[in-house]
Amino acid sequence: MAEVSLKRVSKSYSSNQPAVRNLDLEIADGEFLVLVGPSGCGKSTTLRMIAGLEDVTSGEIQIGGKDVTHVAPKSRDVAMVFQNYALYPHMTAYKNMAFGLELRYGGNWLERLLRRLVRPQAAAELETRRREIPQRIEQTAQTLGIAPLLQRLPKELSGGERQRVALGRAIVRDPQLFLFDEPLSNLDAKLRVEMRRELKQLHRQLSATMVYVTHDQVEALTLGDRIAVMKDGVIQQAAAPMEAYRNPANRFVASFLGSPPMNLIPGRVARLDSQIRFIGGGLSIDLTQSGFAPAALDQQEVELGVRPEDVAVFADEAPEHLADLGLVDAGKAEISLVESLGDTELLHCRLAGSTQELVVKADARIGSPRGAIQIAAAPDQLHLFAADDGRNLRRPASN
Ligand code: ADP
Repeated sequence: MAEVSLKRVSKSYSSNQPAVRNLDLEIADGEFLVLVGPSGCGKSTTLRMIAGLEDVTSGEIQIGGKDVTHVAPKSRDVAMVFQNYALYPHMTAYKNMAFGLELRYGGNWLERLLRRLVRPQAAAELETRRREIPQRIEQTAQTLGIAPLLQRLPKELSGGERQRVALGRAIVRDPQLFLFDEPLSNLDAKLRVEMRRELKQLHRQLSATMVYVTHDQVEALTLGDRIAVMKDGVIQQAAAPMEAYRNPANRFVASFLGSPPMNLIPGRVARLDSQIRFIGGGLSIDLTQSGFAPAALDQQEVELGVRPEDVAVFADEAPEHLADLGLVDAGKAEISLVESLGDTELLHCRLAGSTQELVVKADARIGSPRGAIQIAAAPDQLHLFAADDGRNLRRPASN
């Protein structure tokens, strides 16, 4: 298994804006790294450059400490699993899994004969490997639950079964690196959840380095040891999933991760008496206890961010009671719509004296108030983003 290192890697397809720009990324040996971002942000291009299926325009790629920037795909010892499975339609599941190994360890009868004559010892070694192929496939098929399906053609398999065969084909090669390009996108929702769990288990079993591309933030959050959130060919943040979720580097990451997305309310920071307050969307929120550096924020145009699940709602609460609960008063609102999701409710509110909307995620079992409400939040769950470039004003500048 191997670590992967991308150093200032760029890719331009034409004179248009580059698909990937000066990308720096270190992926540790055995890590499960997810590249996530909206369609067209450069995730697949990055993965395909690691695989060697796309040339890099500039920069360097290392796998296992070796510069592979100009090495052919087949010599990189990586296995890639695609969204469309890419199985040979005329070959059985077994043959699809065996084909690459048979080529590697055998070739046709003429090649084998020549090898026996010219390099008998190497030929004997390869012959042993070749004889092990059926057992290797059987074992992998058992792990993936597809042993009874090995004699079927791809057209006789369901989408999930085909994806397992594609996965099996990658595993039997025992590569130093696995690359996944949206492998679960063609599966239905239930199967996706199941395969996600299996992939996670497989990663644990194999302790392999895996790089996984998806546009689905839930898949990224659940699968990755670390996620790299991309936009316009640039990594916005590479961090553990919950770190990126709780402490996003910028407004883009904050709103890309999470469903519904983080609430963002435009406004500015103002000093009133000894307090530092956010003013905007009809709200005036005391930020004094929020741990922001006041001087740096004074008069800044900002967006206040708060996740739907971090907003507390009360039917009728005096502000001093909120302080007892460790919350800051975020003003009044009116609930305009309630969406029930079974276990949770989404309360769509309009902030008092403004057209600003806010979404609150509440536990359906508790029974949220309706109509006019008081809203509040814990001071450390409030985020501030600079209005100009969207950077998170709580985070140190280097991140
Ligand atoms: P993602 O995987 O995040 O959806 P891609 O890496 O596929 O994004 O694409 C990034 C950008 O590069 C997009 O603007 C896309 O249109 C462009 N692109 C991708 N492949 C090609 C190609 N073969 N030729 C020209 N442009 C391409």
